[in-house]
Amino acid sequence: MATRRIVEIGDDKLRKHAKPVEKFDRRLQTLLRDMAETMYKAEGVGLAAPQVGILRRAVVIDVGEGRHELVNPEIVEQEGDQYGGEGCLSVPGQYGMVHRPQKLRVRAQDRYGKPFELEAEGYLAVAVCHETDHLDGVLFIDKADRMLDPEELEETE
Ligand code: ZN
Repeated sequence: MATRRIVEIGDDKLRKHAKPVEKFDRRLQTLLRDMAETMYKAEGVGLAAPQVGILRRAVVIDVGEGRHELVNPEIVEQEGDQYGGEGCLSVPGQYGMVHRPQKLRVRAQDRYGKPFELEAEGYLAVAVCHETDHLDGVLFIDKADRMLDPEELEETE
């Protein structure tokens, strides 16, 4: 495994629309492995391919309940509302309050191209939305209705 450099805000790649993954080959598997390694090393809970400079629709997520790999994810149902503090490995040192659905269902493919669906609630739903947004060039700071200072963030945890 290898870690990759995380692209930070200001880089155009974070603002582009990522293309669907079409080849479920060794290269994709290496990318997903490297993304997971990069996410764990940076102590993040999710990472999207554009964050390592690859404009393809793939994300990895681990909110502490095991790793999810979502290739070509599409949120097909969502309900409820939750409001909480969010940050991003590509936007270091900034945190903001964002509304997200409480619960959702996402349709995706695994690393071999097999379709599956995942139901997510709570923090996992936040991570799925946040990472899927990255694939469309959207950052949490676009959706935050208020930015937080670090002391406030501690209060929301
Ligand atoms: Zn992010």
